[in-house]
Amino acid sequence: MLLVMSSLLHSRTSWTPIYRAVLAVKYRKADSRVVSTGRIGWISSSQDSSKKKLSKQLKDDAEAVIIGGGVLGTSIAYHLAKAGMKDVILLEKSELTAGSTWHSVGVTSHYNPVVNMKPLTHYSMSLYKQLGQETGQDVGFHMCGSIRICTTPERLEEAKYQMQRHGWMKAPQRLITTEEVARLHPLLYVDDVLGALYFPEDGYIDPYSLTQALAKGARMYGAEIYMPAPVTGLNFRSDGRWDVKTPHGTIRAKHVVNAAGFWGREIGRMVGIELSLGVVHHQFLVTGPIPEVASLKKELPFMRDLEGSTYTRQEKQGILFGPYESADKMKMEEGWWDCVPEGFGKELFESDVDNISDYIINSMKRTPVLANAEITSTVSGPITYAPDAIPLLGPDAKVPNMWLALGTGYGIGLAGGIGKYLSDWMIDGEPPFDLIECEPGRYGNWASREYVLAKCRETYGLNNQIMHPKLERWAGRPVRTNGIYKRLCERGAQMGQRAGWEQPNWFAHSGDEPGFKPSFRRTNWFEPVGRECDLVLSKVGIIDLTPYGKFEVKGRDAADFLDRVFANELPKVGCSNINHMLTPKGKVYAEMTVTCLASDRYLLVTRSNTEFHDLRWLLANQRKNNYDIVITNITDDVACLGIAGPRSRDVLSKMTSSNLSDERFPYLAYHNLELEGIPVQASRFSLTGELGWELFHMKEHTADLYEALLAAGEEHGIGDFGTYALNSLRLEKGFRLWGFELLQFSSQMNTSTTAVEADLMSFVKLDKGVEFIGREALLKLKRDDCERVLCFMTVDTTDVDPEGNETVWNGKKVVGFTSSGSYSYQLNKSICFAYLPPPLTDLGSRVEVEMLGSRYPGVVVKYPLFDAEPFA
Ligand SMILES: Cc1cc2nc3c(=O)[nH]c(=O)nc-3n(C[C@H](O)[C@H](O)[C@H](O)COP(=O)(O)OP(=O)(O)OC[C@H]3O[C@@H](n4cnc5c(N)ncnc54)[C@H](O)[C@@H]3O)c2cc1C
Repeated sequence: MLLVMSSLLHSRTSWTPIYRAVLAVKYRKADSRVVSTGRIGWISSSQDSSKKKLSKQLKDDAEAVIIGGGVLGTSIAYHLAKAGMKDVILLEKSELTAGSTWHSVGVTSHYNPVVNMKPLTHYSMSLYKQLGQETGQDVGFHMCGSIRICTTPERLEEAKYQMQRHGWMKAPQRLITTEEVARLHPLLYVDDVLGALYFPEDGYIDPYSLTQALAKGARMYGAEIYMPAPVTGLNFRSDGRWDVKTPHGTIRAKHVVNAAGFWGREIGRMVGIELSLGVVHHQFLVTGPIPEVASLKKELPFMRDLEGSTYTRQEKQGILFGPYESADKMKMEEGWWDCVPEGFGKELFESDVDNISDYIINSMKRTPVLANAEITSTVSGPITYAPDAIPLLGPDAKVPNMWLALGTGYGIGLAGGIGKYLSDWMIDGEPPFDLIECEPGRYGNWASREYVLAKCRETYGLNNQIMHPKLERWAGRPVRTNGIYKRLCERGAQMGQRAGWEQPNWFAHSGDEPGFKPSFRRTNWFEPVGRECDLVLSKVGIIDLTPYGKFEVKGRDAADFLDRVFANELPKVGCSNINHMLTPKGKVYAEMTVTCLASDRYLLVTRSNTEFHDLRWLLANQRKNNYDIVITNITDDVACLGIAGPRSRDVLSKMTSSNLSDERFPYLAYHNLELEGIPVQASRFSLTGELGWELFHMKEHTADLYEALLAAGEEHGIGDFGTYALNSLRLEKGFRLWGFELLQFSSQMNTSTTAVEADLMSFVKLDKGVEFIGREALLKLKRDDCERVLCFMTVDTTDVDPEGNETVWNGKKVVGFTSSGSYSYQLNKSICFAYLPPPLTDLGSRVEVEMLGSRYPGVVVKYPLFDAEPFA
């Protein structure tokens, strides 16, 4: 199949029939060339191989069974076996690479807008560099570098934004000039190029050989691979192990790993879980030899033309190029939600070159030698996407000992890191570092088919779009709302989405510019958020806190159990406290507000998005020691409104005859109240740090409660406030948060940080008389031995504020990073938490915070800055 590209420019219709003639089937048999790194191979079309006999008898017992022999499954098997796990078995239903892997472009890049995921790629690259030598199987790794070219000032700003977020990471990257772009890639049209982000250690790899090498390594270390061995059923046994059924027999296994790629949903269904995954098409084209490429002395770097939304890499003496289509143009297999068509295995989709003709033109403009090149192959294959294009990675939220490694849009680059990460977690019983973004439980039952597919489409379309901070993505929304959603919208709520819930970020009043106005700097919400902070500080505000995760723990062993999993003492009946669940290594697994409702009944409240993450830990620890308790997730039944500010007590007092005085209702106390006849469980706590209450109530009462609060508060000037104001206020009060950047506010603690590093030891009671999880490890940790510890800073900025993940410099040296930040409207200054080496955390230490290409002076100060309620 040959086509001279420039013909496209003259007669677009003249060439499409050629493709049609060749590709006039819905799914193409996979007999086209596998393009890869110097290896041109052929992969035969799939047949029903499940009935073929195995060359050896299937074992009937295993420590771990991995389902799927793609790049991910083999990497997990390799790492588990290498780490010493005995009886690791990989089951592949047809042959290795027979899903998405075999036709991948194989690009491995350090670029990742999710900062936490960068170590995965970094580890992959280190592994790929030496895997050939270790296993004797060449992997065809080309470290040609990669460039992301910027052709608009906003893109350049984005590149600077990405620079500021990587400095302390092992992710080599730098900004380069147009001249350097031209030197690295002499075949590019660069007249409109303003600069680029350059990753010298990026490259591409042959996915087929990589998978074979991982499989070879896995076998070398003792793992067994059976194929064709389709998993046909899974049964969770009463002894906590799994029966893994295949046509060749059943394996009893402690752990099961679902690495079945776009069949992942089908494996999930075998155990009654609906995984939030969609399948998108991705197309690329390959040219034959191009004289200008053939005569190059050095291999071209991988190149992304962000504005044109295309990429190219060298393929031998030709060029491989492909588009990332916009959401309205891209194609999906929506029907695969129900099942992958029987017989689809190593097939490809029919290429639809018409659909990507605009992108082909963009490619020819950016790389003019393409115009006269001959196209020798087109490939269109399936990629599995999670709604946010971030993998589902880790233990399943609901089913014990079931691990997921699915939904990797860029699985080749991530595979090494994912294999190591998952294997460490499976062996150690705790994650090696924080990757909460990948938490499989982030999509609950609320993630409907329509929502997931709409989000996958949207996310694929965002591939080369500018990723602004606080980016709001609208597809599929609203999907999880409470009784006041419409009312809040009418009152100007500018919604954000957390764990599917719609929650106001801020409120636009008349004269404000509503909507999401993308910017790397302060933008339209900046003034209104200041107004909301002022409202809470001077009068009283209401905030919708329904997205909190809420659990009730009840039963004879409730106190014993909670004392074991939490590091702080338990509160007395009628009181709450802030409490942390630690891992055995003393890292911070979760932060919750714990309230004692009765001696055998507790309410636990966590942030949104961590609902299933936290619940899983609670349930796993309950199972371990057979505690006599019942843990109930009440998140969907119980809503919460927060009221805060100096007038908040006056407002509530108008609605109840109960005594709300400091004596009767002190800070962190908890009482059942009736507010205008509505039963609420009221906690004297507000994350704003101001006088305030959190009012938990049955969700059917939210609308009435909200109206009653507004009515009672009218004379006190009550108004709404959103999460942006909450974030600024809580930072001023020095409240640390557990969380992650996808919550839009980065966090101060997670499973990458110990309680010592996160400055949480005032919440940890080493001498409470209970051997709580993590205690032993904490006894050995000393602050001064830590690489970095948490501190608080003010930063002198102009029109930009730290948000977390900014690089912190001391002279010419990178010393740390911010963990979250905001503008303080009380101080008229930027403020942030940061992780710095202990000697630099002395009060008055001076450092610099990198933002958008400039370094702003920061000084370590005492926190909290302000102290309205007693500091917790
Ligand atoms: C055109 C294209 C280009 C791409 N380019 C890149 C790129 O440049 N860089 C990059 O990083 N990523 C790229 N990707 C994505 C990458 O290919 C995938 O993320 C990766 O291959 C996923 O690997 P996997 O192991 O999860 O799944 P798969 O490769 O799909 O493997 C799943 C395996 O599970 C097996 N299986 C399924 N059900 C069962 C069962 N019941 N029992 C036993 N076995 C079962 C299947 O047979 C299959 O072999 C590209 C993808 C496409 C389609």
